[in-house]
Amino acid sequence: MAIDFSLSPEQQQLQAAARGFAQQMLRGVHKAISNIEKPEDRFYATKPFYDEVAKAGFVKALLPKAYGGSEMSTLDFAIAAEELAAVDINVPTTLLGTGLGLEPLLQFGSDEQKRRFLPDFIDNGADRLAAFAFTEVTGGANFDCPDPTAGVQTVARREGEEWVISGKKHYTTNGNGWNGKGAHLLTVVCRTDLTQPPQQSLAVIIVPGNTPGIEVVGYLDTVGHRAVVSPIMHFNQARVPASNIIGKPGDGMAICSGAFSWTAAIIGAACTGIMRAAFECAFEFAKSDKRSGTVPVIEHQNVGFMLADLKMRIEAARYLTWKACHYLDSTHRAGDELAIMAKVYCSELCVQVVYDAMRLVGVDSYTDKYPLAALMQDALCFPLYDGGNMGVRRRQLHRLFRRPGFDPMAAAEGRLSASPI
Ligand SMILES: Cc1cc2nc3c(=O)[nH]c(=O)nc-3n(C[C@H](O)[C@H](O)[C@H](O)COP(=O)(O)OP(=O)(O)OC[C@H]3O[C@@H](n4cnc5c(N)ncnc54)[C@H](O)[C@@H]3O)c2cc1C
Repeated sequence: MAIDFSLSPEQQQLQAAARGFAQQMLRGVHKAISNIEKPEDRFYATKPFYDEVAKAGFVKALLPKAYGGSEMSTLDFAIAAEELAAVDINVPTTLLGTGLGLEPLLQFGSDEQKRRFLPDFIDNGADRLAAFAFTEVTGGANFDCPDPTAGVQTVARREGEEWVISGKKHYTTNGNGWNGKGAHLLTVVCRTDLTQPPQQSLAVIIVPGNTPGIEVVGYLDTVGHRAVVSPIMHFNQARVPASNIIGKPGDGMAICSGAFSWTAAIIGAACTGIMRAAFECAFEFAKSDKRSGTVPVIEHQNVGFMLADLKMRIEAARYLTWKACHYLDSTHRAGDELAIMAKVYCSELCVQVVYDAMRLVGVDSYTDKYPLAALMQDALCFPLYDGGNMGVRRRQLHRLFRRPGFDPMAAAEGRLSASPI
């Protein structure tokens, strides 16, 4: 059968529902957070919007049917994510943060762990946030450094039937939870032995947010994603049962890259949503504004050419994202090459597209008359976070290409490369 990019009737319904939901429920986020000074208060002000996200079923969509969720495929999630991000990036990123926090458990957790921790998110999704505590206050890119003296310094020491966790993290999206004390569940990236390289010692341990020893010591204030919370978190000998480790020490390498492959694909869709919002703004301006001239500026060739360039890039970003999601889904998340490429390509394209939309609109785009300056602030985050494109994502691709026998056509053809991981 020929390639067919048309959406199924169910996907069309999902897209329309997500579009309607975003227009109706997320339009108010910007106003609700705009005059709030403290970053954590901007985040708390989004709670009523997140309630609606949960009510609409987007938290349940993260979870497998076997545990009561509705288990949306990555591709379907991306279709919805583009619609939400085109209206607001903050509340969908809180949802993404919960998805990221749960991914280690979903992909690598035992049945017992899933039964213990997931039902809460089904029954009370609006109040339950998850967080992935990966980034150390000293950086995240070198988490995989084979030298045991470098990399992740958050440590989990085994004492009897408990892990005792100590360390300092930041940018832990959702880490403070809605109550400012701790997310409902944190998946904490740590090392079980600081004398062993991460290949033997990197681990991900589930830490309930009410565990004594978790401390939120401050918040980072970001230039965009203004109501996405970035707490600085200390783990001061936080004790959890030994059974909370996901897999075994050393599995943290695969768990981290697995968790970040899902977000990579979804971020491709979020970037497409932001680019779309920028295009729509520039397009409306071009059709309606003469700028003291005699004709709407769309009649000028340079404006028409720029619109064509913007639209072409957005189309390309969407189809790469869809293909990346399809490849991820059809390989049970093992094929992450295209997801990483979608993250790198769409995020850098997004910055360029928003900037070009600003050039098209001209000087007024630099004011609050248009949403473009704020979109630029949001766009600048995409290449830098979720594993920066320079420190993490290109290195992942580089590592892939260096594998013996790497097959450059495998991902394009929907196959896994025959080379060993
Ligand atoms: C809004 C937002 C939400 C976030 N959410 C989370 C979250 O939920 N959980 C979480 O843990 N983190 C989160 N982060 C942090 C984010 O994921 C970071 O991208 C990640 O931790 C790595 O940061 P980095 O890529 O800048 O690496 P860093 O370690 O800070 O490195 C900085 C730079 O140094 C250079 N560099 C360092 N090492 C190397 C190397 N070995 N090779 C080549 N270049 C190198 C690169 O130029 C790199 O860009 C969030 C950040 C933001 C802004």
